[in-house]
Amino acid sequence: MTEPERRIALVTGANKGLGFETSRQLAKMGIFVLMGSRNMTRGKAAAKELQKEGLLVEFLQLDVTKPEQISKAAAEIRKRYGKLDILVNNAGKSAHEDHGRNSTATVSSRALRGTFEVNFFGLVELTQRLLPLLRKSAAGRIVNVSSILGSLAIHSREGGMSYKPFAYDASKTAVNTFTIHLAAALAGTNIKVNSTHPGWVRTDMGGPNAPLTPSEGAETAVRLATVGPDGPTEKFFHGEEELPW
Ligand code: NDP
Repeated sequence: MTEPERRIALVTGANKGLGFETSRQLAKMGIFVLMGSRNMTRGKAAAKELQKEGLLVEFLQLDVTKPEQISKAAAEIRKRYGKLDILVNNAGKSAHEDHGRNSTATVSSRALRGTFEVNFFGLVELTQRLLPLLRKSAAGRIVNVSSILGSLAIHSREGGMSYKPFAYDASKTAVNTFTIHLAAALAGTNIKVNSTHPGWVRTDMGGPNAPLTPSEGAETAVRLATVGPDGPTEKFFHGEEELPW
């Protein structure tokens, strides 16, 4: 019997927080993980930490707002592996001035654009550039790390979510639109596209009071990255719970 071909994954923003833990969990499943990081020193140190645990991971320099780095990463993956099985679009930004109860009336265009650059435009461009490689996979999986704060259904519900960082929330709503539209564009292919809400997680972004550990927070993305042929596509999940758009 021949051994099954090793799956190749790319996780963006993998040098810390949820991206780091997602990389660890995927690698523990025997998947080769390219750990995207915009900072070379931090990215290399993160990859080294997982390599010391005996895991098959490698650092890949990738600032998702830099088209030349996206092109270089895509060319590198094509040359070395000829395919990509899993893309976890995890890199994310939450601008300082966007914090607070409701920033809608005050957030600057600069913060709004800066947040969209990372959370939306970078994510879309990277995914588009990697699609030819994901099409080469027997079971391509795209996981867009969104947030429950991107759910319009929950925000507009009576008594729903009082915390409204506008730039962040709007960028995640846009990510969810991308999930739905891309899944439709890829209908009938082997590629599944889903959004995930990790929960409120103790990372630099989530802060020290969040109830979940990064390891718990990474679980939904890992599940969606590895679902079988009958698994969901065009859905939004936190754990096993399907969230409304
Ligand atoms: P962290 O702030 O700990 O990590 C964010 C990661 O994104 C870092 O690796 C950071 O790199 C990277 N990043 C930021 N900008 C870029 C860029 N331009 N190019 C590439 N990488 C970039 O946050 P979390 O781990 O908590 O968040 C991960 C994802 O989960 C985000 O998309 C976030 O929105 C989402 N999320 C998090 C929640 C939480 O409670 N923590 C809740 C809901 C969703 P660097 O170290 O260089 O800054």
